[in-house]
Amino acid sequence: MVAQVVVDVVHTNVAKPFSYLIPEGMEPVVGSRVHVPLGRRMVDGFVVGLVTEDQLDCPAEKLRPISKMLDDYPALLPSMLELAREIATDTHCPLSEALRLMLPAAMRTGRIKQKQETCVTLTCADPEAEAAKQKRSPKRAMLLRLLADGRTRSLNELGQLVKDPRESLKALEQAGLVRLSQREVFRSPYGEEDEKPSIQPPLTPGQTEALESMLPAMERGEGAFLLHGVTGSGKTEVYLAMASRALEMGKGAIILVPEIALTPQMVRWFRSRFGPATAVLHSRLTDGQRYDEWRRIRLGDARIVVGARSAIFAPVEDLGLIVIDEEHEQTYISDKHPRYDARRVAHSRCRREGATLVLSSATPSILSFAMARRGDYTLVEMPKRVADRPLPAVSIVDMRRELEAGNRSIFSALLIQKLHRCLDSGQQAMLFLNRRGFHTFVSCRSCGYVVKCNACDVSMTLHRDPNDPDADELRCHLCGAAHKPPEICPECGSKYIRYFGSGTQRVEEEMHKLFPGVATVRMDIDTTKGRDAHARLLDDFGKGRAKVLIGTQMIAKGLDFPKVTLVGVVAADMTLNLPDYRARERTFQLLTQVAGRAGRAQTPGEVVIQTYKPEDPCILAAAAQDYRAFFEMEFSRRRTGLYPPFTLLARLLVESVSEADAMQMNERLYDTVQTYLLSHPLQKKRTLMVRADAAPVKRIRGQYRYHVLFKLFDHPDASPLLSLMSELTSLSDERCRIYCEVNPATMM
Ligand code: ADP
Ligand code: ZN
Ligand code: ZN
Repeated sequence: MVAQVVVDVVHTNVAKPFSYLIPEGMEPVVGSRVHVPLGRRMVDGFVVGLVTEDQLDCPAEKLRPISKMLDDYPALLPSMLELAREIATDTHCPLSEALRLMLPAAMRTGRIKQKQETCVTLTCADPEAEAAKQKRSPKRAMLLRLLADGRTRSLNELGQLVKDPRESLKALEQAGLVRLSQREVFRSPYGEEDEKPSIQPPLTPGQTEALESMLPAMERGEGAFLLHGVTGSGKTEVYLAMASRALEMGKGAIILVPEIALTPQMVRWFRSRFGPATAVLHSRLTDGQRYDEWRRIRLGDARIVVGARSAIFAPVEDLGLIVIDEEHEQTYISDKHPRYDARRVAHSRCRREGATLVLSSATPSILSFAMARRGDYTLVEMPKRVADRPLPAVSIVDMRRELEAGNRSIFSALLIQKLHRCLDSGQQAMLFLNRRGFHTFVSCRSCGYVVKCNACDVSMTLHRDPNDPDADELRCHLCGAAHKPPEICPECGSKYIRYFGSGTQRVEEEMHKLFPGVATVRMDIDTTKGRDAHARLLDDFGKGRAKVLIGTQMIAKGLDFPKVTLVGVVAADMTLNLPDYRARERTFQLLTQVAGRAGRAQTPGEVVIQTYKPEDPCILAAAAQDYRAFFEMEFSRRRTGLYPPFTLLARLLVESVSEADAMQMNERLYDTVQTYLLSHPLQKKRTLMVRADAAPVKRIRGQYRYHVLFKLFDHPDASPLLSLMSELTSLSDERCRIYCEVNPATMM
């Protein structure tokens, strides 16, 4: 037999599988990872097929043998190999790159190994008698008694009861009384304590109804649902009930959650229901933890996986269910190449593996809701909150009026008044502003100069540590560059440097000025860098040590704090003004989600939305929490404006340190496309627009960025043009990188 191996090297020259002889005694299967010679190097690869020698188109003597197998089990399930093939086709990337998604990175690079520990088992029949004989060594006697129940104990465990047991155990082993051996330990991300088990509460009518529409399909191994449930309708309990049914059926489940919602709170929900059958995969795990969680899944010990985007590739066998919570989140589209969409991947896994798909949200994406209307998903609705709790009452405040009335604070009079009332009655509040830092830009009043990053085409943000006024710093949010703020204008020398715009740090300072003595926590990228920072801050708020939680979109979703009765949106316009056709959709989602944090328990919630555009229909719909109204409005706007889902937006992006090179390459791409369209009338008909331009953010990390933008009718006929685009990326050279992006999450 001969193995077909895809080598783990991303280069078009080696994209095809190569054939290798299988040495005597080695038994690779499809999905095994192997070590093979390639030219003069040794590389890793995946076996993707097995053929007999007569199926080869070259003499078998010419082939080199596989040098070794890398794992003692096939790392890839056959279904995952098929999935990788599909992603390679879909995202126009080499198979080896798609295969990389299927394993923890540290496993691929060999940086991580299984962790072993020494353990001890009793081998004698009468430990008590043997212990009595150990007159000269009370330690050995003690060890024998500890092991008397016959359970295997780790050296570590024994070491906590008996000081330095190693030598004594060796002596006991030599006397034939115990056996020392090695076993694997799984590095756990969960801390010492087990979760207290939780049981299912009596379900609400809404939950029961939703389950009645979805469970029968899951039992048949089919179904794709869009679960539209308002905030606080108890969607998590529906996932838990479905996952638990899947387990009863002997199947596994994957629950995808946006990374930032993957809080200890969420993990606890699942751990307390399913115990160690739950595995968790997210970016804050150490390499060792991620590798071990992955192996617990691969070996079938963990059947329920809760994780962020890339957990869609978790090697769950006999998959029964995939849930995508907050399906509208853009984080489900990968921001790295290959740019897969976890929702599409989930759909295809479910179809192939006979599992049920549940996309879930209080604010479904326009795309998914449109697909549900078209019949691609079955729509299931949960229009009421648990226990008929009311949705929060929303007030909109016109910030222009505040200014006219002489209020220069970032808080309106109404918000201040409601904050007082909320805090005085012992409740908690959340303040939301989707921008971190103190001031969002710095400019010169004399000449209008705006301080920008040296490497990126964006203005810098002022960061201020309230405890250390000398620590003021300007930071670039794209590349992280930082420096001291200028004292005089670098352009004209004037001293009139002024700061504008507010971020979360400013909200925090303002809060302390207006409410001295009220403890607050701030959650944004700056305060959550450490591994446990997230958990600690949420715990401070959850246990009531802090009364007000201030944060960016990090606090907008998933959080469930019963004492929060007031939510303040400091500036609702921030996302609305972004140059993206999805800006309105994002704004609506974000506002509805934050508003949904209020009044989740007995006391009804209130929301104050501050805005400079109180008449904007998108803000009005969010205030009314009327998803349908928003959908209809936005859907018809997309139709008229020919935006997705009515069209496809795609681009070829060129990046280079030289602006001239980037422009030149971009022109060349544009010309090639135009020439192609001239000779392909059908393609031309499907193409609404082709435009060569500088990208909206013209420079990032020193790379100039230009793109050719395409707007196409979303029609199967358009695929030759997309193939051409993906082929054009091979014009990348040392000076320019070219990327092909189809409906990317952002078009910065
Ligand atoms: P959603 O994700 O739909 O916004 P959650 O799943 O977070 O809502 O549930 C909202 C709150 O309702 C949570 O505090 C949860 O514990 C509670 N809850 C959910 N289902 C039930 C139930 N059947 N009985 C009582 N409380 C419930
Ligand atoms: Zn100036
Ligand atoms: Zn920068």
